[in-house]
Amino acid sequence: MEPILRFDHVTKRYGNGVRALKDVSLSIRPGEFVSIIGPSGSGKSTLLRSINKLISTTEGNVFFDGENVASLRGSRLRRSRSKIGMIFQNYNLVNNLSVLQNVLHGRLGHMKGIRGILGLYSEEDKENAWNLLEEMGLENFSYNKAGSLSGGQKQRVGIARAIIQDPKILLCDEPIASLDPSSAKVIMDLLRKMAQKRGIPCLVNLHQVDVALRYSTRIIGLHAGEVVFDGSPEELNGTAMERIYGTSVYNLVVGTSDETKMRQAYAV
Ligand code: ADP
Ligand code: MG
Repeated sequence: MEPILRFDHVTKRYGNGVRALKDVSLSIRPGEFVSIIGPSGSGKSTLLRSINKLISTTEGNVFFDGENVASLRGSRLRRSRSKIGMIFQNYNLVNNLSVLQNVLHGRLGHMKGIRGILGLYSEEDKENAWNLLEEMGLENFSYNKAGSLSGGQKQRVGIARAIIQDPKILLCDEPIASLDPSSAKVIMDLLRKMAQKRGIPCLVNLHQVDVALRYSTRIIGLHAGEVVFDGSPEELNGTAMERIYGTSVYNLVVGTSDETKMRQAYAV
């Protein structure tokens, strides 16, 4: 199957000289649920942001849905972005608007001219928003202000807003980093369910290796901007973990609440 997303020898150098991505090549195909793991500062967010051109790359090319992202400007860039569902660590909701309005915001990129400016959503959009809120277990909160929700509920609104876009890919930057473990599980279960049901490939930045192991069809490991691992969860062994985190696996597991389980999971 043709990849929906392809990085071809991509390097990103920020103005301060930091090379955040180094010669990154990878492809994402429909049906994949791919986690990107790596220490803080390894380039995970930079990688995601180069897909919707929130940052421009320095060398190499990013191709999304058959287009070279670097060549996109104006309306073509907006159209490309409307095909990308983004989910953020801090939810990025409009807190003083209702949950329903926040979900409908996902449609704005698809609306033309005055309808978009005035937020004149179609009946179909409204019906889809209601159905998604029901699927997310938020039907009783539709008219509540988004700011009044718990973190886990806010992230469910974030997922609904991304899904209503009818995106060709979901990009999630640390979607559970601000959540407690039980809300995190709800969010990861919902993400996987929504992606699978609609056949949307998903690229998720995570710093929880155990979560990556449990949910992904494939894991990509970054270290200092370089892809140092790209394989199945089963292939992520102790050696790979050391390449990614640049330290002995023993140092990584000491101090975790469930050391034995971690050691088994990473086969050390
Ligand atoms: P991660 O998401 O894995 O923590 P980032 O992509 O945020 O990593 O950062 C990768 C590297 O690029 C880090 O060294 C970071 O300090 C640097 N960096 C990120 N954003 C900028 C920026 N806007 N300007 C300069 N350096 C940046
Ligand atoms: Mg980041």
